[in-house]
Amino acid sequence: MEHRIADIQYCERLFNRFYDIGSTETGGVTRLGYTETEDEMHEMFVQLGKELGCQSRQDLVGNTYITNTQNEEFYLIGSHLDSVIEGGRYDGVFGILAGLMVMKWASEDGIKLPLCVGAFRCEESSNFGCCTIGSGLITKEAYKQDIGSVVSKSGETLESIFKRRGYSLHPTKISGIKQYLELHIEQGKVLEECQTSVGIVQTIAGPRRFKLYLRGLAEHSGATPMAMRYDALCAASEIILEIERIGKRESAYQSVATVGVVNVHPNAMNVIPGEVELGVDIRGIEISSLNRIEADMKDAARRICQNRSLEFLEEKTSEILPIDMSSSVQAGLERAAKKLGVSSRRMISGAGHDAMSFANLCETGMVFVPCRKGISHNRTEFASIVSLCDGARVMYEYLKGEAGCF
Ligand SMILES: [Zn+2]
Repeated sequence: MEHRIADIQYCERLFNRFYDIGSTETGGVTRLGYTETEDEMHEMFVQLGKELGCQSRQDLVGNTYITNTQNEEFYLIGSHLDSVIEGGRYDGVFGILAGLMVMKWASEDGIKLPLCVGAFRCEESSNFGCCTIGSGLITKEAYKQDIGSVVSKSGETLESIFKRRGYSLHPTKISGIKQYLELHIEQGKVLEECQTSVGIVQTIAGPRRFKLYLRGLAEHSGATPMAMRYDALCAASEIILEIERIGKRESAYQSVATVGVVNVHPNAMNVIPGEVELGVDIRGIEISSLNRIEADMKDAARRICQNRSLEFLEEKTSEILPIDMSSSVQAGLERAAKKLGVSSRRMISGAGHDAMSFANLCETGMVFVPCRKGISHNRTEFASIVSLCDGARVMYEYLKGEAGCF
């Protein structure tokens, strides 16, 4: 759809206010959750809210909210302001900007839409190895168990960080949300390849994560004959390829399996790798397929280690079930897109999002906008402001209908 030049320019200005924060020499950004860089992002968000004439507040885990209402009930539009290491500037930030745009349009149109834009802490798992910490804690969804003992990249526990900042690992549950909406870059290439302006998310694939520990024997790489070795890295290599094969087989059910972490000990040129730790991420929307991947992966790893006389241990570090978005929100967003002449398609989300934390609490929906070549979690990530405006307009149109504001 056509957008007002003033909207595009305003949106660009908002985007640029965040641009330099956490910039790295290679052109990306590193804005890890619960670090000073993420604080800077939240301070900028508060500033932008102030410029819109809105109140801001922080909750007990450091999430920041900007609101245009004193109402006890409100529509919450959220996303995150942290990034992965050497990540891009669009992941998360676009969702926050969408919220600010909707807030601005409502005020310009003189529409009484009770809105709250929420920036949730530490959505990415890059700092602590677990994701959606801010939204998970306040909705009491993602974390049934205490997560105070998880450790940051710099070696501090979440508990100690929270203590220092005056946060609480057991905050009161958020209330008053009529509906939760989130705009996000797709982080895949479906929309771009189908030349569709917005995606309407049906289901968010649930990640299951595992650590596989392989123990052989670290010995001299020169003095140990090939037939007498217990090389954990060679076993790990076989396991990695086996997991790829299982993932390919299950791709018929839209499942994926990835070994993204390989820690080798002692990781020295002249020592046979004695121990390897693998980090495995399995995602999909069909539980039976996920169960098959998990079982087959464990069988394969056990068999491969047995054949090489290695010790094997596995640990499931997290499991989030696939989460459906509200069907009435999906239908409403679709109607809104149609009304505006914005092309849309329903799709699944392979990536996790803050929206997962809210789906059991209130009607929840997500809008995707295309990103170039589907690249994300990478410094070359790019999405256009026009796409952002398309998605934000669809959300605004939908919300107006919901609140009876026509
Ligand atoms: Zn994100």
